Amino acid sequence: MTAVQSDASALLGVYARVGPSFVAGEGSELIAEDGTRYLDFVAGIAVNALGYNHPVIREAVLRALESGLVHVSNLYRTEPGELLAAELVARSFNRQGQVFFCNSGAEANEGAFKFARKWSGKTEIVAFSGSFHGRLFASLAATDRPDYRRPFEPLLAGVQIVPLGDRAATTRAVTAATAAVIIEPLQGEGGVRPVDAGFLAFLRNLCDEKGAALIFDEVQCGLGRTGTLFAYEQTGVIPDMLTLAKPLAGGFPMGAVLLNDRIAAALAPGDHATTFGGGPLVATVALDVLRTIAEPDFLAEVRAKGAWLGEGLARLAASSPRVRAVRGRGLMWGIELGEPAAPFVTAARERRLLVLTAGPNVIRIVPPLTISQGDLERGVAVLAEVLA
Ligand code: PLP
Repeated sequence: MTAVQSDASALLGVYARVGPSFVAGEGSELIAEDGTRYLDFVAGIAVNALGYNHPVIREAVLRALESGLVHVSNLYRTEPGELLAAELVARSFNRQGQVFFCNSGAEANEGAFKFARKWSGKTEIVAFSGSFHGRLFASLAATDRPDYRRPFEPLLAGVQIVPLGDRAATTRAVTAATAAVIIEPLQGEGGVRPVDAGFLAFLRNLCDEKGAALIFDEVQCGLGRTGTLFAYEQTGVIPDMLTLAKPLAGGFPMGAVLLNDRIAAALAPGDHATTFGGGPLVATVALDVLRTIAEPDFLAEVRAKGAWLGEGLARLAASSPRVRAVRGRGLMWGIELGEPAAPFVTAARERRLLVLTAGPNVIRIVPPLTISQGDLERGVAVLAEVLA
């Protein structure tokens, strides 16, 4: 038998994995093989909104398993998916709307593009600079990362990426041929950039004028992350479709497209499908996650912790000449540096704090929404140390 080197892996090398291998999690901490605890401001990249080992998730998983149903084909009805869809609709922008469940953020956006095409009878899509919508052929075409796109071209044709906030360029791009305009109300991967509410309102009017669907990608910024259940609630602008994923099922893979009634009415059996979407196990967990996050007290706490974090980071920016700007809402923040961010992510990890980048020069912070004030303070102190 050939000896396997300790750093060899049978997993495809598409991730530059760093640091220790984790074996357990508790609250806002990840625990490494050697027992070292890491304070986690990454939360599975904005997935683990309730942190690790949360009783709501444990209990929901056990309850779902009791029924014996992990998966049932979408050829049949199951109650958890129906209840989850009804609750998402009741809590969002269109009370006659409907929901399509899938398994990831990219899939949710791909679905939304198909729905927009079917509803509008048109094909083109407009997205914005700094955007990230996923890694499949249409979602990647709408993602402003030429380095991610180039090796896989040709991607979906008819997708334009327009400078974010540029009204003249957007007016030129959105035409009678446009099926959909897609935007993150608070960009994540592109550097944690809140989009001006005035620009979103401008997009709303333009889409109405041209008969295009306005899609808000809330895969990263949705579900309590910004201190309201949906980020769009803070903008006063209502989309036609909204995509969700990351935290929806508490760490189980699940995505969703929320469609308004007009677009939903254009879809018929056979138009779209996925084998696993909205199965009873993930939907049971997601329903309890949604109810937990949507509690007014829970969201008020996210806002209060977010306000403290924003002030803490502003103080850090004032004391560190390395910091150019801090941006964010709720518990989603970016620290823009005048130099590459990756060495500071490494330095924080060496001090047992996990953070990540968002583009080359931004440190991104997306801790569990359940994080304690004390843990937030502990993490900001480490960041101050590494940025000193
Ligand atoms: N949309 C946004 C805003 C995201 O941040 C991401 C992932 O980071 C995606 C879509 C893609 O989601 P997934 O990785 O689940 O396909």
